[in-house]
Amino acid sequence: MENENKNVNEILDEKKEEKAGKENPKSGKKTGVILGITALLILGIIILGIIFNGRNIKLGGNVVNEDEDDKIFRVNPVKDPQVTYYNFRGEAYPDWAKFGMTRSNGARGHQGIDIFALPGTDVYAVLDGKIVDMYVDKTGYGLNFYMEVDPKELEKIKRKNFKPKESAREWAYSENYDPNTMQIKYIRYCHLSEVNVKIGDTVKAGQVIAKTGTTGNASGTHAPHVHFEIAFEMRGKGLINRVNPEMYFKIKNGKDLTEKDKKAQTEASKTEWFETKGYDKGFSEKSTLLEAGKNPNENKNLKNMKQKKK
Ligand SMILES: [Zn+2]
Repeated sequence: MENENKNVNEILDEKKEEKAGKENPKSGKKTGVILGITALLILGIIILGIIFNGRNIKLGGNVVNEDEDDKIFRVNPVKDPQVTYYNFRGEAYPDWAKFGMTRSNGARGHQGIDIFALPGTDVYAVLDGKIVDMYVDKTGYGLNFYMEVDPKELEKIKRKNFKPKESAREWAYSENYDPNTMQIKYIRYCHLSEVNVKIGDTVKAGQVIAKTGTTGNASGTHAPHVHFEIAFEMRGKGLINRVNPEMYFKIKNGKDLTEKDKKAQTEASKTEWFETKGYDKGFSEKSTLLEAGKNPNENKNLKNMKQKKK
């Protein structure tokens, strides 16, 4: 019995020694590797933090908003911009407001983005720029104007991670846009109720330049908004010469809309918002620029697109 017990103990001791001899150095190595990886991760996080802080661009004005995608600061066209959730008739139709072939089941295009705004909301210059055209389009854009900006400044605020994703009907830009050769420099604000600027004025980023309205074909809408466009030529039928403003600005939509946002839009949709009488007083009813024929590139682009399509 004793011998047997000894033997058992000896065997157990041997096993303990085996463990001590073989496994301990291994777990020592493992601990070292884990510590090393942890240290590298912490160092990486610190370095990333420094890089992103360095990329922050602070602009003037009281509507500086941060895009969590890329940490670039932007002045938005209106405060806390959100896509119009309802259509003209007040039916839930979030696609309606987006850029692309988003209307009539994909048959009809929308050449800008509709940003929800109760009439009278402040409209901001998104960059430094110059007002180059302004007129009243009674059956379309209402009181609207174009601002010309430095294409390099616009490029700086481009969203690196933007991809149209709400629906397949949403486009990033028109068919005649070539990102490698074309410079985008026109910002357009439409359906305004009043403006604080005139053609030829230079404006600063963050400056209040107009108030939103429901003028032109937005009169009678259940979804008051500012129609906002970004273009590389001032005119163009349908989507031609335009790009999706969401390529540059983060406009809340879909899941990003808070309960408060939705409530405000639902409340607004209960009213038919008509344009104010006399809003057009003192404004030209035609684009001065188009009439003067100062936009020769537009035809060239149209021609290029037709050739591409062939
Ligand atoms: Zn619109």
